[in-house]
Amino acid sequence: MTENPFSLPFSAAVMAALDGGTPAPIPVDRTVICDCCGENVTDDPRAGGLTFNGLGGTWAAGPCCAKREEPRLRASGTPVAGRCPERVSFADRVRAMRGPDASIKVTRRGAR
Ligand SMILES: [Zn+2]
Repeated sequence: MTENPFSLPFSAAVMAALDGGTPAPIPVDRTVICDCCGENVTDDPRAGGLTFNGLGGTWAAGPCCAKREEPRLRASGTPVAGRCPERVSFADRVRAMRGPDASIKVTRRGAR
């Protein structure tokens, strides 16, 4: 059993899918996790944060990581795809972008 770094129901489903080795779509409901550090920002009221595209998907750097990640993106030639507007929480911005029925698909590295 892989150790679960989060205490969220959906993370338990992710860990079960990883342990099972079978690709599994998992609804994310209203959960928002920073793609850079894994911080749970679901109920974090802070604005800030940005999105960028790469590795076949869109990634979101939360207010916890945006200031650190933006120079790294610039250095790698990866453009910022979007920024969280002021007076909107990063989590609300991400939820608005992904829509009501978002899910993630857990696969093993290299699997499709
Ligand atoms: Zn972060």
